[in-house]
Amino acid sequence: MVGFALKVYGCQMNVYDSDKIRTALVRKGWKEVPEEDARVVIFNGCSIRDKAEHKVWSELGRYSGRWKKEGLPLVAVVGCIAQNIGTDMLSRFPWVRMIAGPRHIGAIPGALEDLLESKGRILLLDDDDRAFYDLPTPPAERLNPWKAYVTIAHGCDNYCTYCIVPFVRGRFMSRDPGEILVEVEELVNEGVREITLLGQNVNSYGTDFTDGYRFSHLLKDVAAVRGLDLLRFATSHPKDFTPDVVDAIAGSDVICPGINLPIQSGSDRILRKMNRKYDLAIYTAIVELIREKLPEVGLTSDLIVGFPGETEEDFQDSLRALEKFRFDLVHTAAYSPRSGTAAATMGEQVGEEEKKRRLNVVNELQSRISYNINLSLLGREYSILVDGEAPKGEGLLQGRTPTDKVVIFPGDKEMLGRFIRVSISEAEHWCLHGRYMDTLS
Ligand code: SF4
Repeated sequence: MVGFALKVYGCQMNVYDSDKIRTALVRKGWKEVPEEDARVVIFNGCSIRDKAEHKVWSELGRYSGRWKKEGLPLVAVVGCIAQNIGTDMLSRFPWVRMIAGPRHIGAIPGALEDLLESKGRILLLDDDDRAFYDLPTPPAERLNPWKAYVTIAHGCDNYCTYCIVPFVRGRFMSRDPGEILVEVEELVNEGVREITLLGQNVNSYGTDFTDGYRFSHLLKDVAAVRGLDLLRFATSHPKDFTPDVVDAIAGSDVICPGINLPIQSGSDRILRKMNRKYDLAIYTAIVELIREKLPEVGLTSDLIVGFPGETEEDFQDSLRALEKFRFDLVHTAAYSPRSGTAAATMGEQVGEEEKKRRLNVVNELQSRISYNINLSLLGREYSILVDGEAPKGEGLLQGRTPTDKVVIFPGDKEMLGRFIRVSISEAEHWCLHGRYMDTLS
């Protein structure tokens, strides 16, 4: 029996890939153990922001003592971080004995077995950005028994000028719908009640098929899987958003009316520089359509401040956009240059202090908007899946509304995995607090 530890940094797609790797290793008879006892430690990390990269660099440095004493652990760095800077890690640390890009996930379990039998090192970089070596294992060994992610497409062809994803995750490729449905059925048969479909841009799903099968068809087919209670998805790109997706949500009790529609900037000038391929007028028309057909929708967004060339006027446009669209939540970030992307070498880079100031201003504005929206929900009742213990607070559990708002409430662990009715009793800007009413199923 080989003891392994899996350390995951980054987005939900990394969680999904890690769950598949964990499942494949467990099915080979390996066992997940505490990191200090592990013969093999696998890092699956994100390269989109430099924060995860820094974290992994500092974690890797900690193995020196154990390596000198025991020649262990065998460390593998996988995912987009490996594709981006894995070779640097390999040359700096002798205990890093494997690197594998995100499109080599299927080769990882076999390569780890080979390494245990040898003293060598293995490099599995994604040199062909269209090839994909998948791992045909559902993410059965997950940390959460009731919720699972399912990736529906790999890579991205959009080349937004700030983003490293097309360089580290390769070209866009939709997964076969039949394969996705089999995976969802297996997960539901094992007790999963909520599925989140993942892609860098889910709206592009099927654009590389020739038979007209698109994201809205997939949504309807997955929602029809017997026993599935909730279906969510992320992320949507405004340039590919089509009305049939809204119709699919409106016509289903299973597909949740929660949409993440990253705006990134409120200035058309900056959107052009970002290569986002939509402008404010197009974005406004999409939001109007969504709000008309889904009056209860939870609409969230992403926004970058301090993109190269962003003037005070452009920044004010972003603030006006937040006031106008009144998103439920916005993931904000100060622009951070990623080497290899077009924006990293653009002139007129905004200074760090100014980026920080702009970030504080948007966060303050958006917190106020989110808080006011959440206040208006006091007294409302929701049916939610109790999906875990709240990260802070003894005896507190949590779930999400169909509109994707976190609800925290005092409850008994017996409720985990059940649907309950809660009444909203208190609001914060990022979550709601509730009172248990009754158990539904
Ligand atoms: S759509 Fe743009 S931001 Fe999103 S992953 Fe693709 S390139 Fe990156």
